Amino acid sequence: MLDYEVFEPKHAALPHLVDLRSDTVSRPTPAMYERMRTAPIGDDGLDGDPSVRELEQTVAALLGKEAGLYFPTCTMANLLAVISQTGRNQQVLLERNAHMLTTERGGSIFAGAAYVPVEGHDGAMDLDRLSSAMRPGSSGLEVGMIAMETSHNNAGGAVLPVAHMKAVHALAASANIPVHIDGARIMNAAAALGMHVRELADHADSISLCLSKGLSAPVGAILASSKPVVATARTFRKMLGGTQRQAGILAAAGVEAVQSMSARLTEDHVVARELSAGLNGLGASISATIPQTNIVQVSVGATGMTSHQWVAALQQRGILTRPLGEDRLRCVTHRHIQSDDIARAIEGFVQVLQDASKPN
Ligand SMILES: *Cc1c(COP(=O)(O)O)cnc(C)c1O
Repeated sequence: MLDYEVFEPKHAALPHLVDLRSDTVSRPTPAMYERMRTAPIGDDGLDGDPSVRELEQTVAALLGKEAGLYFPTCTMANLLAVISQTGRNQQVLLERNAHMLTTERGGSIFAGAAYVPVEGHDGAMDLDRLSSAMRPGSSGLEVGMIAMETSHNNAGGAVLPVAHMKAVHALAASANIPVHIDGARIMNAAAALGMHVRELADHADSISLCLSKGLSAPVGAILASSKPVVATARTFRKMLGGTQRQAGILAAAGVEAVQSMSARLTEDHVVARELSAGLNGLGASISATIPQTNIVQVSVGATGMTSHQWVAALQQRGILTRPLGEDRLRCVTHRHIQSDDIARAIEGFVQVLQDASKPN
């Protein structure tokens, strides 16, 4: 019998680190390892893998869609959502800071579709700008998809108001344009709203969900949609080399992730607010966003140090963060971050501020 606890960070080689770089660092739970060990497996490229099928059906049902498809990453799920529903030489409209645009826009090269930014606020596209972007403009290109993102990564984990999602969906439907939700973080959005995730997924034709962020699975994502869209996505996934053989071992962890890890995400939101409040109490040179979910953006521009200098200085004190441009840090909470870790992180910020103000 394996001692699964050795995989838990509190027992890991560097127990003193407070890792706020991303919720992707969250480890599989002992229950996930147990499911992986006992997962029935097959060949997903031949006659199918029972554990992959279970995961696909579980997530599709959760999101109220006909079918689901397992992917190694949410990046690939988003790409295949575009390729499966959008013609070549069409446009995909996205909020200007959407992850699909900032981080994944290389996918537009494979999709043969132009990714077009629409200005917005807190991750929500401006509806007037969206409707004018939908009109055939000087580019002469049709709009083949509108994509939303919630919770919104680059907007500090902001949650789209349901009324906004409804309005975007109605606008798109009036023009017969499919809507995709980049729902990598959709369980965080549902938790913050206190709603069932299906009520959010209802406003899209397709939706992706990432299993390896706060849900703590090691890898993987699901794309959920209608049967025809998923069948098309399956064909293109094969073309990209995304058909994984005995993937049931990984998918088994994903089943555990969606069944047992969503309910605790509000705990991550609580500690994120503790971090934000603590940092905002430190004085005028630092300001933190007030998070709706588990991401806190910290402005350090007024401290006389760049974000990169801050990351290095905090790292020396065992606090891991990531730079967001030159003058902000990004801190993400997850299930290995508790209140005492937040207290240590805030203490780290205090020490860096003190060192920065010392004459050298
Ligand atoms: C992390 C993330 C992705 C990409 O997920 P991967 O599984 O890392 O490819 C896409 N969209 C959003 C909003 C994300 O936060």
